[in-house]
Amino acid sequence: MFITPHTSVALWISTRFTDPMLAFIFGVISHFILDVIPHGDDTIGDHKTTKKDRFLYLMRIAVVDVALAIVLIYFFVLYGPPVNYWVLFWAVFGTWLPDIAWIAIEILQLTNLYWYVVYHSKLHNFFNWQYSPVYGVPFQIFFTLITVKFSF
Ligand SMILES: [Zn+2]
Repeated sequence: MFITPHTSVALWISTRFTDPMLAFIFGVISHFILDVIPHGDDTIGDHKTTKKDRFLYLMRIAVVDVALAIVLIYFFVLYGPPVNYWVLFWAVFGTWLPDIAWIAIEILQLTNLYWYVVYHSKLHNFFNWQYSPVYGVPFQIFFTLITVKFSF
């Protein structure tokens, strides 16, 4: 799933918890739960023939995605309910960490941690139901909007 919907859950978590550590833990857990839900982005970049080209393509999308997530956090801080910023920070970090870890392992080629990459991608295929980003992207936008609504 994109970072933006994960971030929207972090916003929601920050309105529910006062302990930064708990916010972090639930952030991480929420990431894996969301990844299990079939979310229609597995085929993005499949038109790239090599693994490296596909990874670079996904990283370009990630830049836009992270920028959107930061804009979302910015508006939440400006117009959202009062939250503890440490709680917000750790909630966001918790929801981002599983993907940061995956990208870091790929870039740094930490071969002894590849089990994590396999585990992470297995989660995405838990229900073995893939559908087109044509539906997946609107679904993720819709999910983000609903979650943001419940965070304000
Ligand atoms: Zn993930």
